[in-house]
Amino acid sequence: MEANKLVIYNTLNRQKETFSPIHPPHVGLYVCGPTVYGDAHLGHARPAITFDILFRYLKYLGYKVRYVRNITDVGHLENDADEGEDKIAKKARLEQLEPMEVVQYFTDRYHQNMDELNVLKPSIEPRASGHIIEQQELVRKIMKNGFAYESDGSIYFDVEKYSQQYPYGKLSGRVVEELLNTTRDLDGQQEKKNSFDFALWKKAKPEHIMRWPSEWSDGFPGWHLECSAMSTKYLGESFDIHGGGMDLLFPHHESEVAQSTAANGHESVKYWMHNNMITINGQKMGKSLGNFITLEEFFSGNHALLEKAYSPMTVRFFILQAHYRSTVDFSNEALQASEKGLERLMQAMSKLDSMKPAGQSSVNLPEILEKCFAAMNDDLNTPILISYLFELVKLINSVSDGKQEISEADLQSLKLNMHLLVHDILGLKTPSKTENQAEDLNEVMNLLLQLRVDAKNKKDWETADKIRKELTRLGFTIKDTKEGFEWSK
Ligand code: ZN
Repeated sequence: MEANKLVIYNTLNRQKETFSPIHPPHVGLYVCGPTVYGDAHLGHARPAITFDILFRYLKYLGYKVRYVRNITDVGHLENDADEGEDKIAKKARLEQLEPMEVVQYFTDRYHQNMDELNVLKPSIEPRASGHIIEQQELVRKIMKNGFAYESDGSIYFDVEKYSQQYPYGKLSGRVVEELLNTTRDLDGQQEKKNSFDFALWKKAKPEHIMRWPSEWSDGFPGWHLECSAMSTKYLGESFDIHGGGMDLLFPHHESEVAQSTAANGHESVKYWMHNNMITINGQKMGKSLGNFITLEEFFSGNHALLEKAYSPMTVRFFILQAHYRSTVDFSNEALQASEKGLERLMQAMSKLDSMKPAGQSSVNLPEILEKCFAAMNDDLNTPILISYLFELVKLINSVSDGKQEISEADLQSLKLNMHLLVHDILGLKTPSKTENQAEDLNEVMNLLLQLRVDAKNKKDWETADKIRKELTRLGFTIKDTKEGFEWSK
């Protein structure tokens, strides 16, 4: 392994590999973005932050990165077996909105959350619905090569045929023979030759609102198709890195590999990278489990499971304290520990700016800094980097207490590298005054509303009503819920 070279874990080959782009200094990076039918939650924050770190670090290493992160606004059905309603169309129906109103609303909110988390904007953010022509072209190419078939106006990918020529399941480790054995007898999806064939194009039922004309039927593209079409359009038939959450490995990414290979005769992605999942108090996140906490709720503290509000930077720091390939468990205790850690780090950063050199350094600064970058080069090991940053925090504190000394050259280097590592690479920033005020407001509101709950429990209706009336007069909307309360302004 070469020193000072970025090494990343390639899911495709199940090993760490030295990163070497196809056309240096250019790097093509594609990451599967959100399906915008609801507010972003922690499950969205993790891939966004993981690949933001990669984007920032590649740029620091001098690469010219084209980062494409899509918005899924059509074709993502309620389950992965090509059945059920389109997630966005369903939301639109329930809220009596035009589907693109739903898309715009949640895209705007997603962007706001990403800004708050200090996630850099991708170079291109294409929408699936804006690339229907490219997706139809891709279907034609796959059909022409013999890897798809038509069935009642829908087009399905022929997994069995593909697997006779190419290694289907290579990415996720699924074995086709097993899929064949376990699913061949399962009937009920008569349109498909095999139940694990996936839709490239679906004929729209009469009630389906999001539809486009084609020679096969009035319909819509299958969910997996958009990423193959848009990555090819913006990054070419071969590109460097494709990322996403581990939950997308199968069937989404496996299908992407198959589609691109079926169309082009070769694989398109050199390195596949996957971030691990987030659990909450040891449990998987899920709407039915009541532990589905949106980012908005984290930032406001407005959820029954949260003891307080957590700033976007606390959430970001917490995610970075785990390696992206490990699971992360969110709990109030863990978040509060992160909050304290981040505060210590940021206090040291502000001390650093006014620090004066004196005498000879008592620590080997270049050695610690080298370890910091070695951690980043080792598959973006942010928790190890952060542990070295805390060694530097100790140094900063003891120098400013007059217990240790630092030479002028070392102090220069320390300032430069701390800013580089903390602000530019990890993307951590000191909360602004308005962010601090917003956090204070959240705390005060939660306190007031908790007092109201206490008053109601004691049947002190007068106090409870007074709090509600006054808050309403000030422009707040208060809603009682099963878990307690919700508020907005
Ligand atoms: Zn995708």
